[in-house]
Amino acid sequence: MKYYILFGPPGAGKGTQAVAMVEKYNLKHISTGEMLRAEIAAGTRLGLRAKGLIDAGSLVPDEVVEEMIETTFNANPQVNGFILDGFPRTMTQAEMLDRMLSRKGEDVTAVISLMIPDSLVKERIAHRAAIEGRADDASDETISNRISTYHKKTEPLIDYYRKKGKYFEIDGDGGPGEAGILAVRERLFELLDRL
Ligand code: AMP
Repeated sequence: MKYYILFGPPGAGKGTQAVAMVEKYNLKHISTGEMLRAEIAAGTRLGLRAKGLIDAGSLVPDEVVEEMIETTFNANPQVNGFILDGFPRTMTQAEMLDRMLSRKGEDVTAVISLMIPDSLVKERIAHRAAIEGRADDASDETISNRISTYHKKTEPLIDYYRKKGKYFEIDGDGGPGEAGILAVRERLFELLDRL
């Protein structure tokens, strides 16, 4: 099984690029953010617990996402692997993932970072807010909180995976519009074919 981690700040294009990877390489896309939004929409207890944190741009507790990830791994034995999008987001989660995989005799295959500057993060989120209507895309304060959480809690993971020789970067800015998305996709496929 392949275990790819897509890495990058909010708005880097992780979700968009994951869709193309799923088709080409027969992978299962796991977006913890999307799963949490589905829990909120369904009004589950977990969703109710997570909503306040998500709407404020804060992270939900590590155990919540750990369980979602493990359940999804176990429910999808037919795929060639998984794309983790939005997980791990903290060192604790990275260590949890290592333990979870080592129990299966598996390991993280590669961490691929879509690199974009903070200025583009804000522009992309503003654009997405108009299309998707996500509550956590709506206020400047929440967006800033997510960006600073990314720098503080998630970015340190880069060093962790770099030391393991598993960290790769691609330029996540392919220019405007659909052509830009395709340009980034090409870079991503080229890297994946090489790995
Ligand atoms: P995303 O769709 O990945 O931007 O995630 C949206 C929100 O869901 C985040 O701002 C967090 O509040 C929450 N979330 C998603 N993934 C995680 C995670 N791995 N750990 C903690 N909170 C998460």
